[in-house]
Amino acid sequence: LKQEGTGGQGVAAGGGQAGARPGGAVLEGAGGAAAEAAAGRDGSPAASARKKAAAARGAGETPDLESYRGVGIFIEQHGGQAAPVAWELAGIGRKLADKLGVELIGFVAGHQVEAVAQEAVERGCDRVLVMDHPALGVYRNEAYARVLTPVIREVKPEIFLLGATTTGRDLAGTIATTLQTGLTADCTQLDVDPETRLLDAIRPAFLEKQLAVILCKKHRPQMATVRPKMMEPAPRQPGRQGEIVRVPVDLDESTLRTRVLGVIDEPDPQAQLERADVVVAGGRGLQDPKNLKLLFDFAQVVGGVVGASRAIVDAGWIGREHQVGQTGLTVRPKVYFAFGISGAIQHTVGMENSELIVAVNKDPDAPIFKVADLGVVGDLFAVVPALQAELARRLD
Ligand code: FAD
Repeated sequence: LKQEGTGGQGVAAGGGQAGARPGGAVLEGAGGAAAEAAAGRDGSPAASARKKAAAARGAGETPDLESYRGVGIFIEQHGGQAAPVAWELAGIGRKLADKLGVELIGFVAGHQVEAVAQEAVERGCDRVLVMDHPALGVYRNEAYARVLTPVIREVKPEIFLLGATTTGRDLAGTIATTLQTGLTADCTQLDVDPETRLLDAIRPAFLEKQLAVILCKKHRPQMATVRPKMMEPAPRQPGRQGEIVRVPVDLDESTLRTRVLGVIDEPDPQAQLERADVVVAGGRGLQDPKNLKLLFDFAQVVGGVVGASRAIVDAGWIGREHQVGQTGLTVRPKVYFAFGISGAIQHTVGMENSELIVAVNKDPDAPIFKVADLGVVGDLFAVVPALQAELARRLD
């Protein structure tokens, strides 16, 4: 492990490498020289296992990086409905591809996904590879990885992005380990250097207090998952032209180790929160779980969904599906109300991109006021009911 800079820290998985950047760090993954050096230094069984694994993978052998071109994105869809993060990837993917002067390639796997492929073109893809098969109708890691991995290996994009959703995170790890390349999880920003063609995979690290820039220098594709709601979705341009390629899928259901017995379609509270235009969030300032009623009543008046800080989730006041922040959900509503939330960085990272942030806190120095557009310094038990009454009157 090698660290440079003024305090930043790197995080990398697989063969990923964090590069030297001002305030950043260098951390080389399992396939890199630093991991081998570490294995040589201590003679522990773990170190020796790491060394053997690195040798087995042919660590140090650099693939022909020049043969990789293009930016690939996984267009996640469920039941023919694209996940919103797919179009956020199209937005950032288009920018990276333009900077590198290469094509943006969409990878769509599923069953009866023509409309998604067409929309991918309209959202900025130059080429969309469609893998359509009944066995891909419902996401399963094995089926998707088996189909996508050889296609990525053949197409050789230099960058491959997925959403940091349950599906994307699950799939990315399998693909990256099979391709023996580096994967940076949960990125909040991406950039690329057109000279070196290296992807700057940027993500918070060490309690979100530092931003780590992670580079994958020796392996391809450079893989990253991107947190939903962090990037602007690509606008739809009806009539935009691109190539849709149907890739033959050879998948025998009987060879898959999992079976889909049925799909239970329950309303997903997390999805509701992620898609909400108005979020009404509360924290420990509510003082007692019975005061959550204040949030739910307010949410009803403004047509919002209830969010929460981790403090009250950990205290068991409300379910984890309501938690906003680093270890919860990232939201980007039109309005975010923060009542009795201090505004710790681990919370604000999940809501700071909201269009309008309204905070009520009795402490004038609470960090939430640094990200708030409108702030009221006061007792929430007085301010929130008054605000609710006024909004109810105006919205009536
Ligand atoms: P507090 O920090 O206790 O703040 C309560 C606030 O209420 C104070 O600012 C106080 O002034 C105000 N207040 C009190 N009474 C009133 C009143 N009557 N009227 C108005 N204001 C009042 N946190 C998250 O939220 N999401 C995460 O995903 C998350 N992930 C984390 C991951 C890690 C690895 C770690 C270490 C921490 C994480 N945290 C997360 C926790 C985070 O650091 C904070 O501890 C947490 O957000 C604090 O919650 P809070 O603001 O509700 O509580």
